[in-house]
Amino acid sequence: MKQSQLFTKTRKEPPSDEVSKNAQLLIQAGYIHKEMAGVYAFLPLGLKVIENIKQIVREEMNAIDSQELIMTNLQNSDIWKTTDRWSDENVDVWFKTALQDETELGLAWSHEEPILEMMQNHIDSYKDLPSSVYQFQTKLRNELRAKSGIMRGREFVMKDMYSLHSNEEDMDQYYDQAIEAYKNVYDRLGIGDETFMTFAGGGAFTKFSHEFQTICEAGEDTLYINKDKSVAVNEEVLDEAAEEIDVDKDDLSPVTSAEVGNIFKFGTEKSEKMKIHFTDENDEKKPIYLASYGIGVTRVMGVIAEKLSDENGLVWPKNISPYDVHLVSLAHETEDVERVDSIYKKLKEQNIEVLYDDRKDAHAGEKFADSDLIGIPTRIILSSSNLEEDKAEIVDRKTGETTYVELSELSSSLK
Ligand code: ATP
Ligand code: MG
Repeated sequence: MKQSQLFTKTRKEPPSDEVSKNAQLLIQAGYIHKEMAGVYAFLPLGLKVIENIKQIVREEMNAIDSQELIMTNLQNSDIWKTTDRWSDENVDVWFKTALQDETELGLAWSHEEPILEMMQNHIDSYKDLPSSVYQFQTKLRNELRAKSGIMRGREFVMKDMYSLHSNEEDMDQYYDQAIEAYKNVYDRLGIGDETFMTFAGGGAFTKFSHEFQTICEAGEDTLYINKDKSVAVNEEVLDEAAEEIDVDKDDLSPVTSAEVGNIFKFGTEKSEKMKIHFTDENDEKKPIYLASYGIGVTRVMGVIAEKLSDENGLVWPKNISPYDVHLVSLAHETEDVERVDSIYKKLKEQNIEVLYDDRKDAHAGEKFADSDLIGIPTRIILSSSNLEEDKAEIVDRKTGETTYVELSELSSSLK
């Protein structure tokens, strides 16, 4: 992509109406647009990051045989009444609307009930189980406070997965597989070392649910972890969980964190209420066992923007960066410009994703500042003197380390 054609512009200063670091940086660098508090649009660079995160999640969910689908944003209120979750007292984040004939509709804050209802159409007997489905969907939640940028949106992207089983052991086994898939996701996103599976409240079938919490100053949660980081517990269940797993809570120290995922077992609780059944080997009707698994896709992006940025801007991990390399041209003479153009083409032919700063009206200082702000992990600088020596200057965004490679070895050095 030629930067001269990218419609988004970077800003010299962060937006003054934004308090959170992630949104400040992402707006300043042209990744997102603030529509209103807690509501952000994803511009081309931002969309690329989101798609890269989704692809990692997708690969890991596919690897545990879950099947992707997409549910609707407009929801039937009757479905939510079966579990008593249409009421604003029980769910305090509903956005609701109505058809012209006054039929009430809900705007999807979650898809648990609608997905179960839909799955019932496809599950008759034990032979149809287990089954696992997932989606990437926009959730709409009327959050009371929205001051954390894309970490807490009123409109945000979530990956939600649901697994359905004929018995508890099968559910437990799949749940353990999902835990491994989640760990792979956070590792591949570059935050595995600082993300912990924690004991959390809100378990329906079991005493605890599990959350995935990433250490993050801008987070809203407090996590208690032990020295070797093998035990992590949410503050809200500290006493109970410490007792359960037999650890001394004085050995745990608090850190601020953000919830980037939440998984839990419903067991048969929801299907009993919703009358979602299968027939077993003896032709008897039984409620389906259910577990549910969420990842906050846009929140994860915000957490990464917060954690991995520095005073000069964003710093993306390789796996989710909008581009592999930022090719910054400092060439002016026609002959040099043509050479850089052809290097750009060659890199693209090698399937390297390149953002090419070909702007003629920006000087070197501006280009470097923008490149730091946008945060692509590898920068290639081509100036007239580099070209004369048949060399490219390569700068690592994270460490600032500079190396030179022969132009003939440029693409292989990037692999
Ligand atoms: P929180 O406690 O942060 O409000 P939650 O427990 O209500 O979140 P879940 O319903 O468990 O959220 O949603 C699954 C995941 O979606 C969460 O782990 C989180 O990563 C993400 N998420 C939840 N609410 C938001 C939001 N308002 N904006 C962005 N991501 C969110
Ligand atoms: Mg949660």
